[in-house]
Amino acid sequence: MLDDPFGEITVTTDKSGENRYRKVSYPIRYGTYHEVAYGSYVFQFNLNGEIKHILCRKSCAMEPTEWLKRTVGNDWVFYASGGYNGAFAAVGEYYVPCFRYTSNSIMGGKPFRQGILEASETALADARIHLAGIPDMNTRPGFKSFRDSVLAATPQALQAKAARLHGLLDGRISVLPPDARHVDYDVIPLNISKGCLYNCRFCTVKTGRGFSRVSHREIGEQIKGLKDIYGKDLVNYNALFLGQHDALNAGMDTLTSAALTAFDAFGFQSSTMKEPRLFLFGSVGSLLNADDRLFEAMERLPFSTFINIGLESADQATLDHIGKPILKHDIEDAFTRMADINRSCRNLEITANFLYGDTLPEGHMPTCLDLVQRTYPRPCSRGAVYFSPYGKSAEKRPRVAHFKILKNKCHLPVFLYIIQRL
Ligand code: SF4
Repeated sequence: MLDDPFGEITVTTDKSGENRYRKVSYPIRYGTYHEVAYGSYVFQFNLNGEIKHILCRKSCAMEPTEWLKRTVGNDWVFYASGGYNGAFAAVGEYYVPCFRYTSNSIMGGKPFRQGILEASETALADARIHLAGIPDMNTRPGFKSFRDSVLAATPQALQAKAARLHGLLDGRISVLPPDARHVDYDVIPLNISKGCLYNCRFCTVKTGRGFSRVSHREIGEQIKGLKDIYGKDLVNYNALFLGQHDALNAGMDTLTSAALTAFDAFGFQSSTMKEPRLFLFGSVGSLLNADDRLFEAMERLPFSTFINIGLESADQATLDHIGKPILKHDIEDAFTRMADINRSCRNLEITANFLYGDTLPEGHMPTCLDLVQRTYPRPCSRGAVYFSPYGKSAEKRPRVAHFKILKNKCHLPVFLYIIQRL
């Protein structure tokens, strides 16, 4: 790591962040990255020279403890800190991610309305002009290649790269599993299936297509394309998301071979980040139909695996109301199976989602609570339950304060599900 001060700009290349994801109440960075300090701002770039984080040291609408993060899908996410009493209890993290697109969140306010991103982007454009003007004399060889990569990663180039990612994946990843918060949503997405089994009426993230498995050949092509897109920054990743909405239904052969091939191809063994993780969604049907051997095989994968199952409700009137074509007893059986698997597996955890909203039928919350309390009469730390705020508009969504009452009634880790896309 070397500092290059050039008047009002200071460049530090190859900074080392943490090599394990942690939950802390202060700004933290992971892996290896480059940094430019300019005026009030600090800009952090990934190893491709692409902007990833923006912080403000003083005199701007962002607090020094907050930051902006750009995802590989080219979305800016604002990380809000403080002022949100009990953020950790509500979402399991000290920071609340806030988006510019419509999500289900009931926390974090609307920070983008304060022009935070526009001011940061203007400062970044200024910093790039200053970087371009630094004469090559007296700079290190590493500096020049860093500067060239930053200058090449224009806003247009970043947008084009995100479009390439979405083209490769046959569209955006409309939703990441809630468990991806454990790696700050820094996952490499690989689709091994498309669509889903139910196409529920209420769901805003579905593709609308029926379920289908992706061929081994197509999975190989995606891996090749993803390696190219993540480029030099691949070394900072160790988490895989197997998409789309029901990868568990893809079957043992497709699932385990894709996970192992990706582990090798993406070099997770030698990533700067330790403790590889695998995330995927499953459904009630895929969980109930899966053979025990599938979970045994997943236990042997070189990842800690998190499977998230969308249950939505344990109340038949609510299931009918939201248009989820499934029966209450299937939900109960799926929740019982999740608990059994969580008790017997150490390297694999299954988490569940229920909806959370005042406008759902009145039987919804009592039946969900009853199911959770009956299945877990004693405290248990594995198998988190996420409640996804439900309501057609932000105004119709429930209050965080009510959620905390609900949380205290469960013997499991219980959090709000914030829907984040990629
Ligand atoms: S909730 Fe899950 S199963 Fe239902 S439509 Fe959405 S993605 Fe498909």
